[in-house]
Amino acid sequence: MKAVAVVPSRRSVELRQIDAPRLDSPTSVRMRVLEVGVCGTDREICAMEYGTPPAGCDHLVIGHESLAEVVELGPEVTQVRLGDLVVPTVRRPCAHAHCVPCRTGRQDFCITGDFRERGIKELHGFMTEFVVDDQRTLNVLPHSLRGVGVLVEPLTIAEKAMLQVELLQQRLPWACTMQPGGRQFCHKAVVLGAGPVGLLGAMKLVASGFETWVYSRSDGERQAIVEAFGAHFVAAEEVPAEQLGRELGSIDLIYEAMGASQTSFAAMGALGTNGVFVFTGVPGRKAPVTVDTDLLMRNLVLKNQVVLGTVNAGAHAFAAAVADLQHFVASWPDVVPALISSRHPLERYDQLLLQRTPGVKHVIEVA
Ligand SMILES: [Zn+2]
Ligand SMILES: [Zn+2]
Repeated sequence: MKAVAVVPSRRSVELRQIDAPRLDSPTSVRMRVLEVGVCGTDREICAMEYGTPPAGCDHLVIGHESLAEVVELGPEVTQVRLGDLVVPTVRRPCAHAHCVPCRTGRQDFCITGDFRERGIKELHGFMTEFVVDDQRTLNVLPHSLRGVGVLVEPLTIAEKAMLQVELLQQRLPWACTMQPGGRQFCHKAVVLGAGPVGLLGAMKLVASGFETWVYSRSDGERQAIVEAFGAHFVAAEEVPAEQLGRELGSIDLIYEAMGASQTSFAAMGALGTNGVFVFTGVPGRKAPVTVDTDLLMRNLVLKNQVVLGTVNAGAHAFAAAVADLQHFVASWPDVVPALISSRHPLERYDQLLLQRTPGVKHVIEVA
């Protein structure tokens, strides 16, 4: 079967023929891959910035944002059925007995760093025709999400962040209604960046009752999407990040999804009293930048602020992403599919992975 793989020893990205995987345990499941989303992580792996093949293998099949269909079941599989639409999680636990997060199914909080990730670190990914995984790793989607289910994995970033923000906001019980699923009328949020992670995060914030602004370089297509789901657009050319508070009033939550540290720390200076700042981006290491640390530290203390970083996602975040994606589609039926700008066959991988293509989310259509 065909697979898109990076070969670090040759510094190349190739369409390869590899052996199709077989069921390898009584609870394993074989899936036909339907779609794979492409993101900055994939492009960075293809630029050889990171990415590690499985032990003893010269190549790494890439792709971690997937949508697949169950085609074969091990004899003890009980959690999925033939024909189910599924999205596998990405991270697998480390093997260390003392890693309590991994031993309790929360490898997104792994403390050893020896976790593995499909399509990124020591496990092959999903940019191929068939994959096998244990039933525990699979999240079942309703068939109504066939057209947009590939967005589940990128949405889990916002879901994990918001699960933590909800816990943090319990320190302010008077500030908003915090019943599960309750709307948080009193809150103002700013999303930094209008890529897929930013737009999905902004949708999650709007759906949670935040008045939400998306801060980005001007872009007509993205502004139209933002306004179509009820958020506001702020052009970075018009408002410097440090002025966001003056422009919007007290900001309760800043959700960073741009991976640019200088703008992010400038925006942190605009965070309001009792505010939370969430980082989701991973900037490349560039030259040091100047940050007004006195201002940030004064604000953190005198305004009871919290700064939170979040990576990867656990089972709860995947379940929440599946539920929310259905909710988004019901609320904004034309907007959610518009996040997927283009679909390409596997053979056109080089166009998406080795070049910058305008648009929001690009998808490889495998089957
Ligand atoms: Zn991704
Ligand atoms: Zn671990």
